Amino acid sequence: MTAENAIWRATVLTLFPEMFPGHLGHSLAGKALADGLWSLDAHDIRSAAADKHATVDDTPFGGGPGMVMRADVIDAALTGVAGAGTDQAAPRPVIYMTPRGAPLTQARIAELAAGPGVVLLCGRYEGIDERVVEAWNMEEISIGDFVLSGGEPAAMALIDAAVRLLPGVIGSKLSFAEESFEGGLLEYPHYTRPRVWRDREVPEVLLSGHHGKVDAWRKAQAEKTTEERRPDLWNRYAAKNL
Ligand code: SAM
Repeated sequence: MTAENAIWRATVLTLFPEMFPGHLGHSLAGKALADGLWSLDAHDIRSAAADKHATVDDTPFGGGPGMVMRADVIDAALTGVAGAGTDQAAPRPVIYMTPRGAPLTQARIAELAAGPGVVLLCGRYEGIDERVVEAWNMEEISIGDFVLSGGEPAAMALIDAAVRLLPGVIGSKLSFAEESFEGGLLEYPHYTRPRVWRDREVPEVLLSGHHGKVDAWRKAQAEKTTEERRPDLWNRYAAKNL
């Protein structure tokens, strides 16, 4: 297989490889995985440990609570992953999922989905020795301002969001065009049958059959929702578009 037609590849380094594929084995992502549109391999970090107790962590220098995952173990685990890092034939970014990372955005997801794939490192305990993060020039990504007990749900979220953008996974490219974050806005609200539910009517304009009016209403709704809920997105959108 050449680099051009190679499938998108996700490698996850974790202490819990049995958590994968998890939800990624179901629905759209699961069907695409079964159809060979992308691939997933979960590596057990513990198998890279050198001592007979398979130790992956140690106490933090400087003291403090919890344990830290060892740089030498993570380095050995990464060394066995084809394409990890930037100095290889088909480089895939090595991404450490961490609350200290840059917030994950749909724009970064789209870039990652357009590349050859990702190598995702899932932390546990207090996290990972900083030196291996630096030595591998890892990208650090957070999925939100909260603390998970491990990086696995974060890795799954990133893969889920990227896989649905891969060619052939979702039928129509139009599905993406109006989604939240496309064009810098949250999406407009949706309605379906029944037309009246618990005395609540579907907005009249959506029944009009007038595409221009529907589009204008949806855009106004998207702007209103974004302004109300996400001043950060709204300010960026307003500076660019208004
Ligand atoms: N002591 C760390 C801190 O305060 O930043 C939190 C460590 S957390 C208990 C263990 C692991 O969960 C982290 O190493 C990371 O891999 C993952 N994790 C936790 N929250 C995350 C988030 N918001 N985004 C991405 N990964 C997260």
